[in-house]
Amino acid sequence: LQLSQKHVGTIAILLNVDAQRREEEQRSDFISTASHEMRTPVAAIQGFLELALNPKVATVDDKAREYLQKAYDSTKHLRTFFQDLLTVSKTEDGRLANTPVVIEINELLQELVEQEKMAAAKKQLELHFSRADAGEKNVQPLLYVHADPERLREVILNLIENALKYTKAGLITVGASLKDQSVVIRVSDTGIGMAEEDIPHLFQKFYRIDNSATREIGGTGLGLYISKQVVEQMGGKIWVESKLGEGSTFFVQIPRVSAETVQAAQPAPRLPD
Ligand code: ADP
Repeated sequence: LQLSQKHVGTIAILLNVDAQRREEEQRSDFISTASHEMRTPVAAIQGFLELALNPKVATVDDKAREYLQKAYDSTKHLRTFFQDLLTVSKTEDGRLANTPVVIEINELLQELVEQEKMAAAKKQLELHFSRADAGEKNVQPLLYVHADPERLREVILNLIENALKYTKAGLITVGASLKDQSVVIRVSDTGIGMAEEDIPHLFQKFYRIDNSATREIGGTGLGLYISKQVVEQMGGKIWVESKLGEGSTFFVQIPRVSAETVQAAQPAPRLPD
């Protein structure tokens, strides 16, 4: 087939952006309402299954226990999924609560590491908080940021929980350091890692790596998408360095607030009369 080079006309494509936006809003509204409505009955199902599985409350034979446990696990997954969907629609239309306060990152990381120690021990994994190098003056830098504590907590917890989920043996290290005018938080694991071609897609909605190592592990593929939205709303960024079979390090970089600014914002101490 020989195409003629002669210009024969122009095709114009007109997109009705308003209609598209309205459709997106309607879809987001629908997802938000549906997941909100689903949460209560799913929580009730989970609660009753929990009661049925509790030997102090109910008597069930071994076969029934096995089925109930499977139903319980699926319900738990469904609940997380609805919760994540709700968070996604809130981040997308700006309804996610955001009340920034000054947070010292080392303190927050230590608290989260303590909180997750039990889950790590259950999988016989080591979980450590690693202090930044104190430098020549041997002074530990205070890493202040201005962010919503709940949101930041969720982002870091998601990274630690992923590290625990995708690591079979070894060590998870959590720490932070100063870089220019930012604080860089890192969560490293000695887990399954990921192939180079998966990395650019990792923070997309519903993206999950599908291979023999991940197939058995449950998840929604929404955690990293939500984390990216939240971190970007804080004026920061999130990325990963990883090698298949060796492990991954996730980084979260957020603008730093200097100790002087924090002090200046604090009320002056009252002098005795
Ligand atoms: P989920 O874990 O619920 O599937 P996420 O959005 O948190 O969703 O993660 C997306 C995908 O990225 C996961 O399905 C997994 O394949 C991969 N992933 C995330 N964290 C790690 C990690 N620490 N090590 C290896 N793979 C990871």
